[in-house]
Amino acid sequence: MAVIVAASKNRHKIEEIEAITKKYGMDVIPRDEAGVPDEIEIEEDGETFEENSKKKALGILAVCGMPTIADDSGLMVDYLGGAPGVYSARFAGEPCSDEKNNRKLLHLLEEVPPKEKTAKFVSVITLAFPDGEIIVARGECPGRIIDQPVGENGFGYDPLFVPDGYQKTFAQLTAEEKNSISHRARALKELERQLQQRK
Ligand code: IMP
Repeated sequence: MAVIVAASKNRHKIEEIEAITKKYGMDVIPRDEAGVPDEIEIEEDGETFEENSKKKALGILAVCGMPTIADDSGLMVDYLGGAPGVYSARFAGEPCSDEKNNRKLLHLLEEVPPKEKTAKFVSVITLAFPDGEIIVARGECPGRIIDQPVGENGFGYDPLFVPDGYQKTFAQLTAEEKNSISHRARALKELERQLQQRK
């Protein structure tokens, strides 16, 4: 089984990535298990999910020397011109808080008719290998933003996001349900497609 290091410290993200990569025979280990010191932070200063995702994967690979997987993801709201986008985690400023971010988003969309509150989650996953090979895969999940948080599962903007074809928020879906349609699942599927082509 291939061992891959997760560049993220976000437990939720690692769990989601692991639930999916397991099926493809990849064993994902946390960065500390690969000897990456906790104080090493890769600055996410890119303007696109692609740039940040690559930067994170290559940054951690440079430290541990093992294949590394990184995800950069976020929410893009059409009415807000694609914001919060790459700033999703720190939308309401530092220290980052999901609750503050959700409150800010609701406030900005207060007067907006439901029909105009379309949005999508985006995930760009980079798998970087020590020999210099890099695989980049993008996944998107379209949906809409509702008026108040609903549901207890997941993280981030999950309680405000209803994916297309559902009447429930991401935070009301089970982990299995979310992992079958999420942006990250779709990016991982695309990653798998590229891994298969490479053989
Ligand atoms: P990153 O760690 O820089 O990729 O930031 C991702 C941010 O986007 C998170 O902190 C969340 O605010 C948001 N986000 C990404 N994926 C999800 C998801 O699956 N559900 C809810 N929020 C998400």
